[in-house]
Amino acid sequence: MKIFTSSCELQKYTLELKRSGKTIGFVPTMGFLHDGHMSLIDIARQKSDVVVVSIFVNPTQFAPNEDFDRYPRDFDGDVAKCAEHGADVIYAPEAAEMYRADASTWVEETVLSQPLCGISRPTFYRGVTTVVAKLFLLVQPDFAVFGLKDAQQCFVIQRMVRDLNFPIEIIPAPLVRDADGLALSSRNRYLSADERARALSIHRALLAAKARIMADKSSIKAAAAEAAAAITAAGGRVDYVDVLDCETMKYPEADAKKIILAAAAFFGTTRLIDNEIFEI
Ligand code: AMP
Repeated sequence: MKIFTSSCELQKYTLELKRSGKTIGFVPTMGFLHDGHMSLIDIARQKSDVVVVSIFVNPTQFAPNEDFDRYPRDFDGDVAKCAEHGADVIYAPEAAEMYRADASTWVEETVLSQPLCGISRPTFYRGVTTVVAKLFLLVQPDFAVFGLKDAQQCFVIQRMVRDLNFPIEIIPAPLVRDADGLALSSRNRYLSADERARALSIHRALLAAKARIMADKSSIKAAAAEAAAAITAAGGRVDYVDVLDCETMKYPEADAKKIILAAAAFFGTTRLIDNEIFEI
């Protein structure tokens, strides 16, 4: 497995791979890898000749009051897991390698990024789209795999790729959970045992709301409110529980096909997100 920290060297390498006719599958991550990330690498492995994983805690997607400085890191553990799952290349730049001190260009999606996490984290998606666009130009992937754990992010990236004509297929990957239902996340590391037990309320509340909506489409608002109340009762501080049309990321009209029921809540100081996507 090759490890690059230099953008120029990585890009030289991937451009040579492309010239020699190899397909490249790409999995962007912020590291502290878990089985959710591994499922993305497995999908990339099946579809492409060469699998590139990036490990980069992207400063531009964190607001000043967020957890950039304490975001968990375990580079050696990450390298071992990537090797185990057959990744060929790791790209792990320093922030100063990724961003010039006087960088002044952003890539911004302006519609799908607005609701849900876009409300409480207004500069988050701009940071994500900018770094992913840069990573796409460096890695030159044919395929890029994004987890539906971060479903809104996946939809925003798909829209960016469509709007800016990136020659890349975005592959959405299913959300991976722990056996007890908690969505796997690097941030779960922050939770105390008590907080972790309480945080199970998020998935439980989403499943109950989903069942209610499937039984009665007109109950969307009540089901979301009930889910928020259940998470609050378990000790969570709810950021949002909302139901949107996956296509538009707006309130579902009568003809909506696929909807996302999404939640974000703090347990202690840890902000967790989760969602259920289903047809109605
Ligand atoms: P992160 O390192 O949290 O930025 O995530 C990197 C990629 O892994 C993103 O595409 C995430 O959606 C995906 N991912 C993170 N957690 C999970 C999970 N539990 N299931 C599926 N994909 C995930």
